[in-house]
Amino acid sequence: MALQLHFTPAQQRFRAEVRAWMSAHVPRVPLQTLESARGFAQHREWERTLAAGNWGMVTWPKEYGGRGANLIEWLIFEEEYYRANAPLRVNQNGLFLLGPTLMEFGTAAQKARFLPKMAAGEEIWAQAWSEPQAGSDLAALRATAVREAESYVLRGHKIWSSRAAFADWCFGIFRTEPRAERHRGLSFILVPLRHPGVTVRGIRQIHGEPGFAEIFFEDARVPVANRLGEEGEGWHIAMTTAGFERGLMLRSPARFQVAAQRLIALWRAHRAEADPALASHVAQAWMDARAYALNTYWTATRLMAGDSIGVEASLNKIFWSELDLHLHRAAMSLLGARAELRAAAADGVDSDGWLEGFMFALAGPIYAGTNEIQRNIIADRVLKLPRGA
Ligand SMILES: Cc1cc2nc3c(=O)[nH]c(=O)nc-3n(C[C@H](O)[C@H](O)[C@H](O)COP(=O)(O)OP(=O)(O)OC[C@H]3O[C@@H](n4cnc5c(N)ncnc54)[C@H](O)[C@@H]3O)c2cc1C
Repeated sequence: MALQLHFTPAQQRFRAEVRAWMSAHVPRVPLQTLESARGFAQHREWERTLAAGNWGMVTWPKEYGGRGANLIEWLIFEEEYYRANAPLRVNQNGLFLLGPTLMEFGTAAQKARFLPKMAAGEEIWAQAWSEPQAGSDLAALRATAVREAESYVLRGHKIWSSRAAFADWCFGIFRTEPRAERHRGLSFILVPLRHPGVTVRGIRQIHGEPGFAEIFFEDARVPVANRLGEEGEGWHIAMTTAGFERGLMLRSPARFQVAAQRLIALWRAHRAEADPALASHVAQAWMDARAYALNTYWTATRLMAGDSIGVEASLNKIFWSELDLHLHRAAMSLLGARAELRAAAADGVDSDGWLEGFMFALAGPIYAGTNEIQRNIIADRVLKLPRGA
């Protein structure tokens, strides 16, 4: 199926509808950071507003709170969303990672139970995979789920769980067969966070807010019906989730295209034409954002024709995380010391947001699987290079 480089009249009408709704509903005053309790509540309220307009997750079927839109329409929605400077999606782990995984592996009962509340912003999800001794080497995880009749009893310690400090549920990977080979004997289990035996402890970041949390499971009991897929199939399901995370859903191109436009405005405002090296960085960032958008439209076209995301998700993840860094480094160079000024400072108006964006971009090569690990995957599975000794 060839990529069409123009939008159909129906797609243009869809774009106009999204644009009109966003312009009427996006909060005029930016919300507080979703990493604070108050900001999280504000973002949850925004999710409810989106759901009331039936914009919670446009690609999902109508019975789950969606509009049955296709992936091209989703990309259009994302473009209008970022163009309107709408708030970050506090339920991104649910909507973009668990949601598509549930669509693929969930039972009808699980889909009916979890997806509508996710689309409505009623249940916010966190990802509970990493452990103190299991990050890049996720298969080293030790948390266990022991079957007792129709329940699993969970024990273990998860860490770096984004938004878990205030979220309602997490999707975790637990060892259900302790003696099985590392990648086997794992199960994918959905766990409420406000639940007996579950303790969530926020981790304060450099800005003082708990962007992450540790989660302790001490004999926490959940029904077997909370397991997604078969027992022991957790690794395969988790890798499917990681494919969504790295390959398509988590970082849509609109985010970078809008940042690239802001970067060009910043370059103009700073009259930086005299610095050809800087001009080249700005132009490269804009071109990369555009290339990423075109590549994503191509991926969406392929998926709509029945293809699936494979190992190229690793290439994609390296590209968007390095693009984000590149964009923000160029902004830091333009702003110089002014980058550290806040909007409220006398001379700080145009520095607002870039420093926070830069600090978050620094994490891009780490989360969703580090870029070193993605390069290992590419070396192994794309280039078929021999493994090191
Ligand atoms: C902003 C952010 C959000 C996150 N959100 C979540 C979340 O919601 N849920 C969750 O479960 N986790 C989350 N994480 C954790 C993230 O998945 C881990 O940080 C990541 O997998 C790396 O694991 P680690 O920190 O233990 O580092 P390590 O695995 O200890 O790696 C340390 C360094 O060694 C390198 N390295 C390790 N092994 C190899 C190898 N074989 N070859 C080459 N280099 C190697 C790594 O690339 C890295 O540079 C988040 C992390 C960040 C930064």
